[in-house]
Amino acid sequence: MPRLIVATGNSHKTDEIRAILGAEYDISDLGCYPELPEVEETGTTFRENAALKATEISSQVEGLVLSDDSGLEVDALGGEPGVYSARYARMGDEQDHGRFYIDNTSGRAGDDAANNTKLLWKLGDQQNRKARFRCVMVLAQAGETLASFDGAVEGHILNKHHGEGGFGYDPLFVPDGYDKTFAELSSQIKNQLSHRAKAMEKVVAWLADQSA
Ligand code: IMP
Repeated sequence: MPRLIVATGNSHKTDEIRAILGAEYDISDLGCYPELPEVEETGTTFRENAALKATEISSQVEGLVLSDDSGLEVDALGGEPGVYSARYARMGDEQDHGRFYIDNTSGRAGDDAANNTKLLWKLGDQQNRKARFRCVMVLAQAGETLASFDGAVEGHILNKHHGEGGFGYDPLFVPDGYDKTFAELSSQIKNQLSHRAKAMEKVVAWLADQSA
């Protein structure tokens, strides 16, 4: 079975990619490579950060590497949090003075809660709640980019959390055509609709093409 290493330490992303790609690949992530240093996301676009992660990791491990850089874009906030989605609360800006930053010991879950609180505070009672999740994936091998793929899902932001599933901004995001958040919808439905699912469809087609 061919191996695919997902260049992330976020097990939620790996689980979604595994569920979408099926049993054809032996999928692991950076949890299996604790010795590798974290790749700094210094890019200003999803594509740049995805390429940084995929090329850097693939120069240090054998085999095919897939990276995912993703985030939420909110129209009324000029596309924020965008590439800063994972560290939104940690980045004090001139409006929030870092008040949402928590020197947390609870890791990603703590960050997710703080990010969601900051997003709701910044949106306030803004009427335009339009938003989308965007994802760029890059496949790389031996330090070289092979191809990149993108996907997006349109929706809107609620004014409070709903649901316990998923991760990140899922409890606030309702995809177009549904009346439940990604945290309330089943993972099967999220994995058909999501930005990651749409990028993965292109990855799957590309991989099938290569092995044809
Ligand atoms: P990355 O690991 O730098 O790509 O950061 C991705 C961040 O975007 C995550 O930490 C979440 O805050 C957000 N994000 C990306 N995809 C999703 C999703 O499917 N649901 C909810 N939040 C997401």
